[in-house]
Amino acid sequence: MNIRTVFSLGVTLLLATACQPQTETIYRQQLFAFGTLIDITTQGVDAEQARSAVQAVDALYQQQHRDWHAWQRGALDDLNKAIAAGKPWQTDRSIVKLIRMGQRFERLSGGRFNPAIGELLALWGFQQDEPEGPPPSPEQIKAWLSHKPSSLQLDIEGNLVSSRNPHVRLDFGGFAKGYSVGKAVDLLEAHGIHNLIVNAGGDLCLRGNRGDNTPWRIGIRHPRREGVLATLELQGAACVFTSGDYERYFVYQGRRYHHILDPRTGYPATGARSVTVIADDPALADAAATALLVADAEHWQSVAVSMGVKDVLRIDDQNIVWVTPRLAKQVVFDPAWQSVKVVSLEH
Ligand code: ADP
Ligand code: MG
Repeated sequence: MNIRTVFSLGVTLLLATACQPQTETIYRQQLFAFGTLIDITTQGVDAEQARSAVQAVDALYQQQHRDWHAWQRGALDDLNKAIAAGKPWQTDRSIVKLIRMGQRFERLSGGRFNPAIGELLALWGFQQDEPEGPPPSPEQIKAWLSHKPSSLQLDIEGNLVSSRNPHVRLDFGGFAKGYSVGKAVDLLEAHGIHNLIVNAGGDLCLRGNRGDNTPWRIGIRHPRREGVLATLELQGAACVFTSGDYERYFVYQGRRYHHILDPRTGYPATGARSVTVIADDPALADAAATALLVADAEHWQSVAVSMGVKDVLRIDDQNIVWVTPRLAKQVVFDPAWQSVKVVSLEH
C-alpha cells in the first residue's frame, strides 16, 4: 500500500492510500471533529466517490460539534442556561432526540449513566479542553449530590424542554460520539459505500469487509501501555466502543483522576480500567461502555443485560480481563496477557 494523494479540503485532511487492483482499493481519510481525529476507511469505491462521501460527513460533524458541545456556545449550552434559570426552552429536534436516548440509558443503567451530570463534570474541570485539577472539595461534591440531578427530571413537549431541577446540566459526552459515528455510517452507505470503518479515536463502527471477504481487523487497546492487548476480526455490521480510565484525566498531588464519574458518589469510577462493548447500535455501545465502567464487580453483568448488550470485555483494576462467551471466541489476546476469565451474562 502506498500513499498516493494528499488532498486538502478546508479543515479536512484527506489521505488516500490505494491498493491494486481497482476493486480492492482501500482509501483512508481523516477529519477532525469533537476534539478527535476521525479516521474513515472505505473499500470498493473510487477515490472521487470516497472523497465526496467523506466531505458530506465532515459537514455533518462540524454542525454537530456546534450544536452539541457541552460547554462552548451552541444549542445545548443555550438549553443548559435556560434550565439553570428555571425557564422552559424551545430547543432543536436533534437535542430532544439525544435527551430521550440519554434518559433511556440512565433508566436502563440504574443511574450509573447519567447525562445530567454536567455541573459535576464542570466541578471536576472536565468541561474544559485541558483538565488540570485540583479536584473539588468533599463539601462541593456533597452539595452536588444533594441536588440529585437526573435527566428524568426533564419534561419534553414537542421541542419544548423544561426541568424540575435547575441543577440538571446536560452533557452528552458519554454517547454523542457513538450517535454521530452511526450518522456517519448512514451517510457513507447513502453514498453507495458498503465496506467501511468510521473510527473516532478508537471507537468505531464497521460495515462489510476489507475486500475479498476478508474481515476487518480491530485492536483493543492496552489500558496501561502503548499498543493493543487483543485483536478481533469482524465483518458485516458491528460497532466497538471502549471507555477507559486512561482516556482523559489529570494528576494532582500524585493521584490520577479520570473523566468517568460515578453519579452516585460524585467521584471518578473505581474498579475497572476499561470496558469494551460490541453492539449493533453505536450510541448504545458508547453509553453501555461508560455505564459498565461505573458499574462495580458485582453489578456489571446485570447492567449489561438490562442495557441489552451481549458482548463485553472488562479489564478490572487487577488487570484481569472478564469477557463474555461469544466475544471470547472472537478475540485473540497478546500472548503476554495472563489472566482472562470467560463469564456468562446469564445466571
Ligand atoms: P470517551 O469520551 O473517552 O470516549 P466515554 O464514552 O466513556 O469516553 O465518555 C466519557 C464522557 O462521558 C465524559 O467526558 C463525560 O462527558 C461523560 N460522562 C462521564 N461520566 C458519565 C456518567 N456517569 N454518565 C454519563 N456520562 C458521563
Ligand atoms: Mg461512552
